[in-house]
Amino acid sequence: MVTETVETEGAGMLQKEAAARLGKSGADLASMSDTDIEKLLFEFQVHQIELELQNDELKRTHHELSVSHDDFARIYNLSPIAYLTINEQGLIKKANIAAIQLLSRSKELLVGKRLGKFIHPSDQDNYYFFIRDLVVAKNKHILNAKLVVKNSEATTSECPGFELYGCSRALCSYNSDLVYVELRSTVNNNYANDSEIYLAVQDVTEYKYTQETISCLNKKLEKKIFEQTSKLIESNQELTQKIEEFNYLKHQLWEREAKLTAIFNASIEGIITIDTSGVILSTNKAVETIFGYSEQELVGCRFDKLMSPLQKKKQRHNVTANILGVIGLTREIDGICKDGSRVPLDISLVEYALDGANYFTGIFRDVSLRKHQEQQEKEHLEELAHVTRVGLMGEMGSGIAHEVNQPLTAITNYTQACLRFIDAENPDLVQLGDILFKIHQQALKAGQIIHRMKNFVSPRKICRISIDINTLVEDAVGLSANAFKQSKIKLELDLEKNLPEVTIDDIQIEQVLLNLLRNSIDALKDMPPTTSRKIRIQTSLKNINEIEVKVHDNGSGIDDAQKDKILNPFFTTKSTGMGMGLSISRSIIDAHGGILNFKSKSEKGTLFYFTLPIKRKI
Ligand code: ADP
Repeated sequence: MVTETVETEGAGMLQKEAAARLGKSGADLASMSDTDIEKLLFEFQVHQIELELQNDELKRTHHELSVSHDDFARIYNLSPIAYLTINEQGLIKKANIAAIQLLSRSKELLVGKRLGKFIHPSDQDNYYFFIRDLVVAKNKHILNAKLVVKNSEATTSECPGFELYGCSRALCSYNSDLVYVELRSTVNNNYANDSEIYLAVQDVTEYKYTQETISCLNKKLEKKIFEQTSKLIESNQELTQKIEEFNYLKHQLWEREAKLTAIFNASIEGIITIDTSGVILSTNKAVETIFGYSEQELVGCRFDKLMSPLQKKKQRHNVTANILGVIGLTREIDGICKDGSRVPLDISLVEYALDGANYFTGIFRDVSLRKHQEQQEKEHLEELAHVTRVGLMGEMGSGIAHEVNQPLTAITNYTQACLRFIDAENPDLVQLGDILFKIHQQALKAGQIIHRMKNFVSPRKICRISIDINTLVEDAVGLSANAFKQSKIKLELDLEKNLPEVTIDDIQIEQVLLNLLRNSIDALKDMPPTTSRKIRIQTSLKNINEIEVKVHDNGSGIDDAQKDKILNPFFTTKSTGMGMGLSISRSIIDAHGGILNFKSKSEKGTLFYFTLPIKRKI
């Protein structure tokens, strides 16, 4: 309706103006002919129709313009981008809804206000040049600036990325009164020929803060990358160093392996690796030399294939378990070769673990030659021992004769008593029986002494038995009893009870004991009669594998000068001595795997001691 009124008013005005122009044209209708008038009328009618058509056209155009204006106004106000129209002085003339919201003022408060009032002080200069350039050059420009707007609701809010990414406030300078904007402009002259500046104001605050957050994150990332890189460089250096060390170790390992392989193959000792169930895994060349089996023939077989039936019997057929049970010690075993011949071996085992599994390496040494030599030495020792035993018996002969004499005297006395009983009228047969029993006992005693002497001196083969060492000590003491008496020597026995048995040649060890006792008696018998003469014999368990026997006297002792010599063969300080007793005793103890030694001080007595191993059965 408003539009129609404006249109009608406009048409009236135009009509008046047309009449005036017609009047000015000065056409005199009275002087015109009818034909001219008709022509003129016709022309007027044509003009009128033309004008009406133009008028319709104008109306339609006006209507379209009005519709387009309304559309524009709607878009203008619905647009999320703030639009401002300002004049050359920077006064706001128009603002759309987005601009009103952005600047937080009502339209009334905005129109007529300077846009420069909203520009942050730090952007004032830029804003001034921006406007000036627009007015002068009328070019399109873009200005990035900050607007100061009062935004009471947003004053406490944080930088959008602050909490999310953990950026510091210093990096994210967020201020809720500040709005970052991008101003895009264009200039036009209006119908009054005034310059109008159109500004599209884009709120880029969020974009700005996002940028700041990203830059803050980038800095943090760079810092982190720098730190990580430094760490990486450091660990890389460490790794390089480790690789160098590793290479060095690898080289050493290769070298060692090469040496070990050379030793493995060149060794004259057989080397076999076996697993925990006793299955052979590898053998070296020497194994073939010792047993006659090639490696292929042995790998995969059980380890006891190399043990003689005797050895298996000894181990109660559980060779593997028994032998593998003794790690680190050298054992003597009886092996069997491919051709059935037997071979004495020393075996030592070491255990090792590889990839969580346990294995054994057995080292075998063919000790046939050593055994042969040992046998020869034994025989030699046996002969020597026999000779010295005969000598020892000779020396102890008078004492032993005294020992035998005692039961013989008793037998004589008992026999006389018997004869007297028989001569009686009614002989007491019970008493006679008692006396005959005693005669029998004494005869047995004499027989035993003679039997022991005979055993002691008769040539014999070495024969080892398991025996309690204390029994041997008591036997030796028995044979020397008379000598103790004669030389007035007090004997002290300190024998540990329940000692494990030792596997020994009893005659030989008794010989050692007798020899030590005889030497002690010799060292005591020339002592002044006022001195109390003492011999102390002690047996004890020295450690888990040995028994120790000590013979201690308080005799003349041994000079320092003689200490180095007394164990040598043929060294003696006695007029009738052979000087063989101690050297043979030492050989006997050596052959039993023990040690014989002494401690002595001149005039302070002498201690002789020897050890015997307790043989554990394998
Ligand atoms: P022999 O008894 O024939 O001399 P041994 O080999 O038994 O031969 O002894 C060598 C020497 O050792 C003895 O002559 C003696 O000088 C010395 N000797 C051995 N035992 C003792 C001892 N208990 N006290 C002092 N000297 C001893």
